Amino acid sequence: MAQRILEGRKTRTTFQSFLSGAPAKDYVFQKMPYREQIHKGAKLIKEADYLLIGAGAGLSAAAGLTMGGARFTDNFKEFIEKYGGPFMKDMYSAGFYPFPSEEAKWGYWSKSAMVNRILPGTLPLYQKVRRMAENKRHFVLTTNVDHQFLLSGFDENNVFATQGDYGLIQCQKGCHPKTYDGIKMFRQMDQARKDCLVPSYMVPVCPVCGGPMEMNLRSDQYFVEDEKWYEAEERFGQFLEECEEKKTVLLELGVGFNTPAIIRFPFEKLMREHENMSLVRLNLDEAVVPEEFGERAVGINEDMEKSIEDLQMEVQGNDGK
Ligand SMILES: [Zn+2]
Repeated sequence: MAQRILEGRKTRTTFQSFLSGAPAKDYVFQKMPYREQIHKGAKLIKEADYLLIGAGAGLSAAAGLTMGGARFTDNFKEFIEKYGGPFMKDMYSAGFYPFPSEEAKWGYWSKSAMVNRILPGTLPLYQKVRRMAENKRHFVLTTNVDHQFLLSGFDENNVFATQGDYGLIQCQKGCHPKTYDGIKMFRQMDQARKDCLVPSYMVPVCPVCGGPMEMNLRSDQYFVEDEKWYEAEERFGQFLEECEEKKTVLLELGVGFNTPAIIRFPFEKLMREHENMSLVRLNLDEAVVPEEFGERAVGINEDMEKSIEDLQMEVQGNDGK
């Protein structure tokens, strides 16, 4: 404790210090019926002054941005026919295909950016989440790279997207800490693409080292965390500091066990360290919550669109507004 006071503001949480790799050992599935899950979740949300939203792939999948199935086979038909094999089974695996040239690489990624970032526009489920957040001091921590929180109207000062954005590109080797808006380029590539390839003159090169460019998606040690990224990290740290003294609800949306160290485990760690926090975990298949949290936590294992609607209805209804 003395250590903390001595160091004062220098102890502010950073992305690295927030991460936690430690799973709980006492997960239990909620046995209570769905209506009671909603009732308990709504009560926790109503009682809180602060709302920290943690959102993972499950939220975007529930909103319609699924990575496989018809959305993949319809949109990537020519890529599946050209490249086939084990990579072309969904958009997640396809991103790891060893594309033989820059023309092929950008042929694929321009398509992916169109399908996941440019064409969908704002999605209803994200708008529902925004409406739920708008009456409280709130902040969003997300691993999603589809820009949906910003498209739905969240203030960019309240969003920390830690893993990048389908609309941004960077130097492949991260030779300088900058990202570049790729939206216009992706639209042009989408028009010009033939046989899954973009014309050579469209291939972007790094303006500093002259080497190849890459999507700004965290996949290796060269991922660029630019100035905006660090500003968002700083605001996230400030928000957490404020939360320490306020009644805070951690609203976790669709965070599974694929990358639990960024949101799921850190949220559980916050819960263990702060009595003033509560956890509302929405997850279709993995809504388990640690037993030790008792009345402070609830897992809701239903379709997320339905859960968010029902939560919102109950939060508003009992306010008498
Ligand atoms: Zn470079």
